[in-house]
Amino acid sequence: MTRFIFITGGVVSSLGKGLASAALGALLQARGFKVRLRKLDPYINVDPGTMSPYQHGEVYVTDDGAETDLDLGHYERFTGVTSRQTDNITTGRIYSEVITKERRGDYLGATIQVIPHITDAIKDFITNDVSNEDFLLCEIGGTVGDIEGLPFLEAIRQLGNELGKKRALFMHLTLLPYVAAAGELKTKPTQHSVKELLSVGIQADLLLCRSEREIPEVERKKIAQFCNVGEESVIPALDVKSIYEVPHSYHQQGLDNQVCRHFSINAPEPCLERWMEIHDRKTAPEGEVNIAVVGKYTGLLDAYKSLAEALDHGGIANHVKVNMNWIDAEVFEGERPLNYLEKVHGILVPGGFGIRGSEGKIAAAKFAREQNVPYFGICFGMQMAVIEAARNMAGLADASSTEFGPHDEPLVGLMTEWMKGNEIQERGIKSDMGGTMRLGAYDCLLREGSKAHKIYGCKEIVSERHRHRYEVNSSYIPALEQAGMLFSGLSPDGLLPEIVEIPDHNWFIGVQFHPELKSKPLDPHPLFTSFICSAVKQARLV
Ligand code: GLN
Repeated sequence: MTRFIFITGGVVSSLGKGLASAALGALLQARGFKVRLRKLDPYINVDPGTMSPYQHGEVYVTDDGAETDLDLGHYERFTGVTSRQTDNITTGRIYSEVITKERRGDYLGATIQVIPHITDAIKDFITNDVSNEDFLLCEIGGTVGDIEGLPFLEAIRQLGNELGKKRALFMHLTLLPYVAAAGELKTKPTQHSVKELLSVGIQADLLLCRSEREIPEVERKKIAQFCNVGEESVIPALDVKSIYEVPHSYHQQGLDNQVCRHFSINAPEPCLERWMEIHDRKTAPEGEVNIAVVGKYTGLLDAYKSLAEALDHGGIANHVKVNMNWIDAEVFEGERPLNYLEKVHGILVPGGFGIRGSEGKIAAAKFAREQNVPYFGICFGMQMAVIEAARNMAGLADASSTEFGPHDEPLVGLMTEWMKGNEIQERGIKSDMGGTMRLGAYDCLLREGSKAHKIYGCKEIVSERHRHRYEVNSSYIPALEQAGMLFSGLSPDGLLPEIVEIPDHNWFIGVQFHPELKSKPLDPHPLFTSFICSAVKQARLV
């Protein structure tokens, strides 16, 4: 029997609802339960794939090729449960499905309305593709009171009613602001938020109260009284030093106990040792390394959420702190890279789109190659490294990408055909922008004896997640290999370059996929572990 936990947020946005949901998932898992997490996003885009990373942060890609909200990354990193397309839905997708059905005539003449048609579609989504999970945690994006969120709240209200108290719990995340002039934590915004929720028919069962300081007993009592919950259901969520401390901290405040009590289940205490070990390593590192991340969206770090986490995981694996230097690639188009990169122990060029900043990224790759500084190129970062190698190692001065316009030496070109399983995927320049990239998990064959092969523990084949429209043109492989670049990973049919490396360099690797999406604190990705290890060696040199 699957129990449902609905997580809403109030007072302000950015309270860390995704992280709170992920941490509760990890706690329930540590008690031996099988969990799955889902996110309902009220915006009208069909998925976040077409949204600017500046507005929405990173697009998290699942194995099955869905472009989803970055909170799914938190879910996977905290629980290790692989997310699926069915774990993230938006208003846009719900409406587009309902309208498709209406056009087909499936509703047999009915007038299509928000209630029941849209709310039914939401309920179907929430309960769909659930099998033997003990808990399904369902986070509602946005803040209570948003117009867009209403159909979702109505749907979970109905579901709560249908499932009954024994199978449904409403958890509400709020904020207790500290007003310095009064020297007090204020409970009023929480009271209002709970009331707002009640106005759509949802009585919160559990309140998770974000606060920068301890919540006095008397305030807890007051919240309980005004919000119609037991005092033990007001759980303080205090600020912590690292996100890996969150599961332990919530446990100490009684969150998972309260959830078990609500559902009347007796479960063993969770084993949180592994989380504490990570937290200890994070708070007491044995050294530090400086990594320059040369990208485009450096103004909003959520745009590189999984990347920052994966670098951190690499640090945890090597017992060091990773200082990330976020550098806008465009600066290298005016200034010498040396001014920025002299003191770094590793350079990473992440995924990216468009011509702006591309020459700066190429300059960063050149600097790393020539100065023997560890270089990690991810997706666009690999493509730029290959263009650099073609220009400066293989003598193809005009090498470029067709992403920037037509070229005589299209080192990187638009992918028009590739295999997904046994099916051919076809695209052209006129294809839609949304959902048409090479997305999701694809196998990559590793070249025996290469650095990549060793890093992956001498596996013959690995599977990694992709999100790109262009690819390195394989007809250039012989020229590039002759010049000193090794193609150490290829698609199973041998047509698409997946990994490149320079054997004659301390650590120079480019990958067409996004390894950061699969890295977890309890299971750091080997490429990040190895990259940070090489940065540690580099730190000893400079
Ligand atoms: N813009 C490049 C492409 O579409 C790289 C994409 C990426 O880095 N994710 O192929």
